[in-house]
Amino acid sequence: MTAEKLAPAAPQTPQDRMKEIVALCKRRGFIFGASDIYGGINGFWDYGPLGVELKNNLRDLWWKSMVLTPPIGPDGEPVEIVGLDSAIIQNPKVWVASGHVGGFSDPMVDCKETKLRYRADHIMVYPVPEVLEDQEPHLAFVSGTAPEDIHKRMDKYWGKINGQTSKEYYSLENPLSLEKIVLTEYTKILGPDAKKPGSLTEPRAFNLLFETKIGAVASDDNIAYLRGETAQGIFINFKNVVDSSRVRVPFGIAQVGKAFRNEVNPRNFIFRSREFEQMEMEWFCDPNDKKITPQMWFDFWKVQRQKFWEALGLSGDNILMREHGQDELVFYSKGTFDIEYKFPFTDPGFGELEGIAYRTDYDLTQHQEHSKVKMEYIDPMDPKNKFIPHVIEPAAGLTRGVLALLCEAYTVDPSRPSGVYLNFHPAIAPKKAAILPLTAKDQHPVLATKLYLELREEFAVDLDIKQNIGKRYARQDEIGTPFCFTIDDQTVADGTVTVRERNTMAQERIPMDKVAEYLRTKIKRVI
Ligand code: ATP
Repeated sequence: MTAEKLAPAAPQTPQDRMKEIVALCKRRGFIFGASDIYGGINGFWDYGPLGVELKNNLRDLWWKSMVLTPPIGPDGEPVEIVGLDSAIIQNPKVWVASGHVGGFSDPMVDCKETKLRYRADHIMVYPVPEVLEDQEPHLAFVSGTAPEDIHKRMDKYWGKINGQTSKEYYSLENPLSLEKIVLTEYTKILGPDAKKPGSLTEPRAFNLLFETKIGAVASDDNIAYLRGETAQGIFINFKNVVDSSRVRVPFGIAQVGKAFRNEVNPRNFIFRSREFEQMEMEWFCDPNDKKITPQMWFDFWKVQRQKFWEALGLSGDNILMREHGQDELVFYSKGTFDIEYKFPFTDPGFGELEGIAYRTDYDLTQHQEHSKVKMEYIDPMDPKNKFIPHVIEPAAGLTRGVLALLCEAYTVDPSRPSGVYLNFHPAIAPKKAAILPLTAKDQHPVLATKLYLELREEFAVDLDIKQNIGKRYARQDEIGTPFCFTIDDQTVADGTVTVRERNTMAQERIPMDKVAEYLRTKIKRVI
């Protein structure tokens, strides 16, 4: 088969691109729908052999950048951050104190016709154009719907507008948000998946915490919650950490782990799921410190966090920092910034990847009030300086980060047999290298196995012996392996191997006993 025949057509739209990324993830073993063989379960995902490596790499680099080698602070001193792994299920009072039981809810809208439920702030409405006079319906969509699908539905329900198609007539720039629509008009709105107007209910609160029951008796007294975020585990251990270790304010506590939210509309692949992973750090600082104020720490962490994602390869054009407007801020926050990424399904817009919030002393004060345990910190240098620390929180999605890395890496290249390759930074790539004997005969597999056994002590590497070499290169391109080492007759004769570099496909020969060193240099520290 020729390269041209194997190569898929270049993606036409960001939506097509997303479909191809999802298909590649399944085909190559990055991410599968959970419970696949039973028809799946909405909002849950399983990470396959390569997905788990990719996720672990991101997790480990975050841990390194936070706990093992954190940055140098604004005063030139190294900052101190310690790790934590708290339980997923805690005393339910934790979630009452944090406000999640009372307030962790988004206003929801139900569709009486289809029984589907939507987050009210995710519904946008295109009103029927005035020239169609009293005609109905107004059309509702879930935000992120592709423009071509919107126009298709407009043409179907509205017909021609002044003799024009909706695309010629109607700008999609300013849809109305549902909150802007008075309830009496709801009868005229056609729900995103409905066939008849008037099926949407008014927005109602819906709690996102997953409930479970503890112990043998399933009564309401035994209700507990799967954690909705990893952060609360950190706040409730603040005193334990201060009392048991030598950390002194300012310092941070970092945690990576699962979080669960009964999201109403899990969608966009792993972007919004019901079980996901977070990487959160709570930075505790002194509100009375005049030298480095909490605001200065806030500015410091904003810069550090953006640098982190850029160092992993998210390019400048695809990443931005957005400040929350006053109307978006919760009452206790003195500021929040989101690091946003241009995912194919948000393109040309952006979607949240990480939030950096100045949370004041809200969380510790809440836990102090509810638990009656004092959260005050006494400055060891000045016992008169007692305070509840202020908190700066960089809260990132690990699984959402995996998606951003996959989207960024996906590169179409019709000139190669695979048609695409994943342009992962070597530190992120699930496999750092593949060892490929040219043939499955003679000394080739023997030498390849020897090299494989040596390299795997230090790196995640693949040994792939069968199939023609072109197909094996294609597979490695598709899974984003940065280097392939080929063992051939010349290896047997002079001990050199061919290195093929993924992005350029350039090849050179290097001595087999220098391969480990070669990889070490190429994968060198990124953060
Ligand atoms: P959103 O507005 O998208 O619901 P959020 O502002 O509620 O997110 P946070 O509570 O700040 O999110 O959580 C921190 C990070 O956790 C987010 O930036 C995101 O990367 C990740 N995250 C939150 N909810 C989900 C989810 N349902 N699926 C995957 N990742 C998520």
